[in-house]
Amino acid sequence: MIHYHHCPLCNSETFEPQLEIKDFSISGESFAVCACLHCGLWFTQDAPSEAESSRYYQAEQYISHSDTDKGLVNRLYHLVRRRTLKSKQKLIEASSGIKGGSLLDIGSGTGSFLHTMQSAGWTVTGIEPDDIARKNALSLHQIETFPPDRIASLAGNSFDIITMWHVLEHVHGLESQLNELRRLLKDGGKIFIAVPNHTSYDATHYAAFWAAWDVPRHLYHFSPAAMEFLSEKYHFKINARRPMWFDSFYVSLLSEKYKTGKSRFISAMWIGLRSNLKALTKVRKCSSIIYILEKK
Ligand SMILES: [Zn+2]
Repeated sequence: MIHYHHCPLCNSETFEPQLEIKDFSISGESFAVCACLHCGLWFTQDAPSEAESSRYYQAEQYISHSDTDKGLVNRLYHLVRRRTLKSKQKLIEASSGIKGGSLLDIGSGTGSFLHTMQSAGWTVTGIEPDDIARKNALSLHQIETFPPDRIASLAGNSFDIITMWHVLEHVHGLESQLNELRRLLKDGGKIFIAVPNHTSYDATHYAAFWAAWDVPRHLYHFSPAAMEFLSEKYHFKINARRPMWFDSFYVSLLSEKYKTGKSRFISAMWIGLRSNLKALTKVRKCSSIIYILEKK
């Protein structure tokens, strides 16, 4: 168990518990989410250590790993994922001006994104902690991916693009991860970090039932302000923020289920839509945001 006496981002001792959140998807246990009053990061208090965390990931519904196709929410997830893979490729190529460079994906899961990029001519490297996911990446896409301890042996200054799609919030050792990102990124390269946003409308609406708290798998809960602090601290600047429009619908569907025990499709679509409308002119309000970082 990790009991924080200091904020994991800024090291401040001034933080306060905000919400008690239940792990609806796997363990049924509850965890306190604390807010740092200095940098704005929210984090999960008393979360499992890295060694203890595997049992919180072992569930069939953890679809990024198991690729099951059952249930409405999972079917929607897979449909959306196929579309978003292509849009991620377009975003990367448009924002970086590079096609077919070197790309590192951290938290590569079963390798779908790596496969998309490799097919588009990119040289890809994937890092993934889960053994089964790595085996699936090999059997599904013939792409060999590596456990996180391999990161340290990758050559510095060697990647045009580094991506972390809904991964940074899971990573133990935030500081060493950010230092590694900076070491591995070429000068002029870009990092794409997608994280949920607890200041979005859907987060406020569902409060403790908001599915993207996803405790204790999510160790950190990043607001746009906390991401700005993080970027400054590790000598990056945020080049752009991009909305993830589908996440509000997907997260709302799960949140409805946690709140009511039912798959309330219409209600979820309504909340997802309202969330997106509020984010239409303010990306900072979107349910999930892609932050594009570059070295200062
Ligand atoms: Zn802090």
